[in-house]
Amino acid sequence: MGDYRQKEILVTGGAGFIGSNFIEYMLNHTSYNITNVDKLTYAGNMINTKSFYTNSRYRFFQCDIANNEQLKGVFDKNYDAIINFAAETHVDRSIKNAAPFIETNIKGTFNLLNYVLHGKADQFIQISTDEVYGSLNEIEPSFTENSPLSPNNPYSASKASADLLVRSYYQTYHLPVMITRCSNNFGPHQHTEKFIPKIIHHALQDKDIPLYGDGKNIRDWLYVEDHCRAIYMVLEHGKPGEIYNIGGACEKTNKEVILFILDILGKSTDLIRYVTDRKGHDRRYSINYEKINYQIGWRPTVSFEDGIEQTIAWYKNNLG
Ligand code: NAD
Repeated sequence: MGDYRQKEILVTGGAGFIGSNFIEYMLNHTSYNITNVDKLTYAGNMINTKSFYTNSRYRFFQCDIANNEQLKGVFDKNYDAIINFAAETHVDRSIKNAAPFIETNIKGTFNLLNYVLHGKADQFIQISTDEVYGSLNEIEPSFTENSPLSPNNPYSASKASADLLVRSYYQTYHLPVMITRCSNNFGPHQHTEKFIPKIIHHALQDKDIPLYGDGKNIRDWLYVEDHCRAIYMVLEHGKPGEIYNIGGACEKTNKEVILFILDILGKSTDLIRYVTDRKGHDRRYSINYEKINYQIGWRPTVSFEDGIEQTIAWYKNNLG
């Protein structure tokens, strides 16, 4: 007889964009129980959890991961894994005020690692970002897991700091921790302050669409469900202490993305409004995902075109 105990997974930040998509993915593709811990900041939205809120394998705690007192209640049981999505995530906000980024992204990660250290979870996955590697020019090779950490704004610096803490808990205590670093995601549930939802939201209302600088900054886009599947595969097959890059092999300038969406929606390019560039704006992100492809067998499957169609359909149905 095999071990039929249900796995217990603790997801943090599961009312946000990627975390809620991940919970939906896990409830649909596994028999695991999921505990979701979210502070419900401006970025967390219970509407993102509506497809699984009443699922008997799901429970929710409103809790700040930077607050150890609040976290105690969440550890009423041991977990097979903690997957840490919770973060302050908007670069522009971090430029205006970095304090919440330090609290949640660094102290929150530190608190969770200590629960792993004290035996309350058997595995820990830190959901990090390609932004920790800084910026590339148009011709440099893509970031690998060995690229130096070189963050250029308070958001990416806080994520890089958390990654270093996670690394240190592996080196010092040999804890079963892993880090994933993914490129830009798009898909349902993303806050409308972010680039692609803002384009769709504004275009649908015939409002101006702001475009930073010369519009030629390049991002590597991945549909969110592909990212969720990658994390699930790392959970099942990843090795302790390892870092896995996850990317879409889909580099596009910001202007190309806007033009593509305007074209699908049948809207005029006159909606584009050039605005002063973001301070410290990274020019190009590009991810080499050979390691996860070779070692774990993951690769992106949803094309940019299909993903954008699905994303637009979701926003059309869900924007008030
Ligand atoms: P998001 O901003 O949509 O969601 C973040 C969630 O975390 C929200 O629900 C928020 O309420 C919650 N949260 C914030 N502070 C908290 C705290 N102190 N305690 C508990 N919950 C808290 O973010 P996202 O885009 O879903 O990103 C999730 C993770 O993935 C982040 O760690 C981010 O760095 C990483 N990531 C994002 C992208 C992307 O393109 N969105 C790409 C790569 C990596």
